[in-house]
Amino acid sequence: MLSYFPAPYPDELLYSLLARYHRHTCSVSSKGTLEDLFGSRNVRATVDLPGHLGALSRHLPPDKDLTAERLASEFTLFPYYVAFQPPMVVADVLAALTHGRADGIHLRLGIATTTVSAATALRYCPACHADALTRWGERYWRRAHQLPGVLVCPDHGVPLTDSSVVPSLGHQHEFVAADHRNCGSESVPPVWANDHKSRAILLDIAQRSAALLNGRRWGMNPVDLTARYRHALIDRRFASASGRVDQRHLHDAFAAVFAPACSALPELEGTTWLTSIVRKHRHAFHPLHHILFGLLLDRSDPAPKVAHLTPRRVVATTEFTNRLRDLVRQGEGLRATARALNVDPNTVRLLSNDIPNCPPGDTRNCPPVAVQAVVG
Ligand SMILES: [Zn+2]
Repeated sequence: MLSYFPAPYPDELLYSLLARYHRHTCSVSSKGTLEDLFGSRNVRATVDLPGHLGALSRHLPPDKDLTAERLASEFTLFPYYVAFQPPMVVADVLAALTHGRADGIHLRLGIATTTVSAATALRYCPACHADALTRWGERYWRRAHQLPGVLVCPDHGVPLTDSSVVPSLGHQHEFVAADHRNCGSESVPPVWANDHKSRAILLDIAQRSAALLNGRRWGMNPVDLTARYRHALIDRRFASASGRVDQRHLHDAFAAVFAPACSALPELEGTTWLTSIVRKHRHAFHPLHHILFGLLLDRSDPAPKVAHLTPRRVVATTEFTNRLRDLVRQGEGLRATARALNVDPNTVRLLSNDIPNCPPGDTRNCPPVAVQAVVG
């Protein structure tokens, strides 16, 4: 049992906490630090999803209340990686992190063959480090800065900088703390740094990614997720009312939304995943793909809606009324009009009949005002 363990900083990576323990105790042996922390000299210094958290928890001072589950949820990238996974996978991954080795964990998550590349060097935000030095007198590694696809700080919006610490290269059993030597070099700003459109998209991605780290409900039922996506696709007119997806429209919209950031983020080039994520989910998708898909939906205008619906009463908005009138004027049939407005044909018939001063099926002289119709 350890008598000392550092107090964690906000959003600190477990790797960073262990590295600061190593530095604060003035240990000269990386293997000795592993023995202190885990009771084993063969634990690998993993950044994203470290194992042996149960053994670590048992060695930490009890007053810190750092249970294995808390270590996983608050100090690793576990909540990010399981955010869209079925509950059984969440439980399986958590068990691997807490009770055993985490080797092959990306296979368990079904994302071992993903095209999304993880950063090799630990990254940092110069503004965050300046804040940390002022407040606590030392730097530390943050979780949000190590997430795949995150190129700017979610808090400051500035480009992240690669440190000289590459855990997979020669440091497999060593936790390296952030300091002025490995984080001090002047870096050349990326070419997109002055492009505000590119920065805005990258900041949106960073903030959505970081938000997953703080999620307290892990995982998602795949049936619910598929249904939610289907509903959103119909709502944005990327799919017909029956759910048939217009893949060309979807891919064109994706290209238009993400064009400004394509040169910054190579993951935006390949969109095979986009074709599959809108179908029934037969395999897992990388969290970054769910984030990009959510961002695309949020930046796409929903179809005009019937604003309020109860079993007996429909209240149409002015926008809905105007669109209904335009469709009728264009000579669209009842069913085509209903499809375009995402309502059933009966609703179209009732609304067009009940618009004041409009003969049934002809809304040419309708005033652009909200109307009410009684249904049933
Ligand atoms: Zn920052």
